[in-house]
Amino acid sequence: MKSIQIFDVNQNKVITAEIIEKSDEDWKKLLTQKQYEITTKKGTETPGACPFSEIHEAGIFRCLRCGTDLFQYSTKFESGTGWPSFWEPVSKLNVVEQRDKSLGLIRIEVLCARCGSHLGHVFDDGPKPTGKRYCMNGFALKFVPLAQL
Ligand SMILES: [Zn+2]
Repeated sequence: MKSIQIFDVNQNKVITAEIIEKSDEDWKKLLTQKQYEITTKKGTETPGACPFSEIHEAGIFRCLRCGTDLFQYSTKFESGTGWPSFWEPVSKLNVVEQRDKSLGLIRIEVLCARCGSHLGHVFDDGPKPTGKRYCMNGFALKFVPLAQL
């Protein structure tokens, strides 16, 4: 069993978690077509397709595929792009950032550290305090209100 260290918001500490490895075929069975295309085939949802702009309560955005804590509601901001945007992940431990040269652009892709799910990209035009804009696909995330943690 391969494991990694990730930050758990509920326990407020770094924990050891098993790395989730599944074949594309297995993910296809577990996810909707849209979720599969985005998380597994690195797709991008239509701007505004995700209903997270209507969320106005504290909570955590988790990885759809493996449940890893990814973003706090308190770091969400309105970027005007139509994609859910955050200025900081829960922890650098919980995401992997890597160069993506697709579409003839050099961008930084953001993936879930635990299951490798494609989440979106990060840009340097975000608000203070980090100046980062984590531009995410809502279909790669699930929101859990604080009261249900
Ligand atoms: Zn994950």
